[in-house]
Amino acid sequence: MKTIVLASNNKHKIKEISEMITDYNIITMREIGFDQDIAETGTTFVENAMIKAQTIRQYLDDLGLDYYVLSDDSGLICNGLNGEPGVYSARYASLNATDEENRQKLLRELAKVDDRTASFTCCMVLLNAEGKSIVGVGETKGEILREYAGNTEFCYDCLFYSYELGKSFGEATEEEKNSVSHRAKAVHNLLRSLANNEWRVMSC
Ligand code: IMP
Repeated sequence: MKTIVLASNNKHKIKEISEMITDYNIITMREIGFDQDIAETGTTFVENAMIKAQTIRQYLDDLGLDYYVLSDDSGLICNGLNGEPGVYSARYASLNATDEENRQKLLRELAKVDDRTASFTCCMVLLNAEGKSIVGVGETKGEILREYAGNTEFCYDCLFYSYELGKSFGEATEEEKNSVSHRAKAVHNLLRSLANNEWRVMSC
């Protein structure tokens, strides 16, 4: 079974992606001894996903390992806030903001506008040992609630009312969220391209 290293330390992403991809041996970057934070200096989801994947790919090259690398860059896009927090979703309130600080900033900013429609976007990059990649993108639409609904474990989940589920991601079971989420759609699109062998040379 081919091994994929996930270029993420986010335990929620790791859990969701591991449950979605079962035909590969999924391991984390910590398991290969990589425990640094990767600076996300890109201005788009695909740029940041590529930066993360290439950083881990370089590390694997140095170890002489030919594992695939999979990275995920995702975020919340609010139409009433001109697309914010977008690529800055994890550090919306400040560089080292907690989930609670990010949610509170979001509620404060949205209180100033009428449009609470939003979408989650996820861009995934799979990189092989030859440096070729496959990109999968997924999106899911909804709106931002005025109060928390459901569990507050994964940042904006308790504020995101999913149109497809008719409830917040915080209220959804893991299976429900994984059936409609931006991440699930990105994984689905990526695996379809992988099955069609659509590897491309791409740089950011
Ligand atoms: P990244 O690690 O730069 O991709 O940051 C993604 C950030 O977007 C997370 O830290 C969350 O703030 C937000 N985000 C992305 N996907 C989800 C989700 O499924 N639920 C809740 N928040 C999410």
